[in-house]
Amino acid sequence: MKLIFLGAPGSGKGTQAEVVTNKYGIPSVSTGNILREAVKNGTKSGLEAKKYMDAGDLVPDSVVIGILKDKIAGDDCKNGFILDGFPRTVAQAEALEEMGVEIDKVVNISVADEKIAGRMGDRRVCQDCGASYSVTYKPPKAEGVCDSCGGKVAQRDDDKPETVKSRLAIYHDKTAPLIGFYEKRGKLVTVEGQEEIADTSKLVFAALE
Ligand code: ADP
Ligand code: ZN
Repeated sequence: MKLIFLGAPGSGKGTQAEVVTNKYGIPSVSTGNILREAVKNGTKSGLEAKKYMDAGDLVPDSVVIGILKDKIAGDDCKNGFILDGFPRTVAQAEALEEMGVEIDKVVNISVADEKIAGRMGDRRVCQDCGASYSVTYKPPKAEGVCDSCGGKVAQRDDDKPETVKSRLAIYHDKTAPLIGFYEKRGKLVTVEGQEEIADTSKLVFAALE
């Protein structure tokens, strides 16, 4: 099974991708997590990506496409995968088609703009494994400590209010066109993001049946 999770930053797509990963046992590939890891490790692509990420801009297609291609060629992805945060531009979606990747479904998680800022303010992430948390809806069992790896859970720099607005504008400009792109291909299913994580998951599972 090859899936794409589409949605605005803070829509909950990463959280839902994790839920689906656990249920179906296929890995979720988050380009955001891969890039943050690369920044942390100071790799060449990490150094290049950092300035864009800090500003809330998209990392150039050429960088992200290269990273994604390497990742899905890995052994763990041979039975399928969930793409979380890729593609984010039409050029990335076209690159995926050129790679010959056949996507089964694209799950579009829809959340009104007015709710996004609050969700991003609430969001926390494990700095070691990338697991996502929410102060209100999914706090770690021990404050500031990741349930799955014991790493430090903190707010991402780009989730601070200054960058949230521009990330949302970039989403509408560059990523939202993918809704029509996949609709045309008959792949799109849209799920309304709910307040509670489990309520959204129910709709996601129903959409995947
Ligand atoms: P969110 O979904 O909350 O925006 P992500 O963790 O998916 O967060 O992405 C964080 C940042 O990483 C983005 O703002 C962008 O700078 C970069 N990034 C992640 N995926 C891509 C991609 N497919 N194309 C370009 N930039 C990306
Ligand atoms: Zn962790």
